[in-house]
Amino acid sequence: MLEFFNNLRIRYSEFMVGRYGMDKLNWAILVAAIVVHIIYRILGFFFIRVISWILIILLIVRFISRDHGSRTKENIWWEGKSKEITAAIASADRSWRDRKTTLYFNCEGCKTKLSVPRGKGKVRIVCPNCGQEMFKNT
Ligand SMILES: [Zn+2]
Repeated sequence: MLEFFNNLRIRYSEFMVGRYGMDKLNWAILVAAIVVHIIYRILGFFFIRVISWILIILLIVRFISRDHGSRTKENIWWEGKSKEITAAIASADRSWRDRKTTLYFNCEGCKTKLSVPRGKGKVRIVCPNCGQEMFKNT
């Protein structure tokens, strides 16, 4: 039995030579596939199951791929996107937590997120990014 598992391990190692394996994007696809499958188990819609299978197939194709350049580019794209998503969640969390003491809004010129303390009446604000002047009731 031990020999069987040792042979399996050796065969797996031989199979994986030159193949891409796991990266952050593959882990994200795996988690997404599991979440989508749980949603399918709850709701029972067939198309949700199809989505989970597409994610699993995508995961396997990326895992056994020998095209390291393309997979690395995809992973770099994903790492950028996941940082944007994490920053957006942190920003939304901060805005919600400080909503009673701080007024958050986007610049009318460049859409940069700005903040001013509440309870100061009508204030003049100059965007530090683009210089746009705005007036806000705090
Ligand atoms: Zn601006």
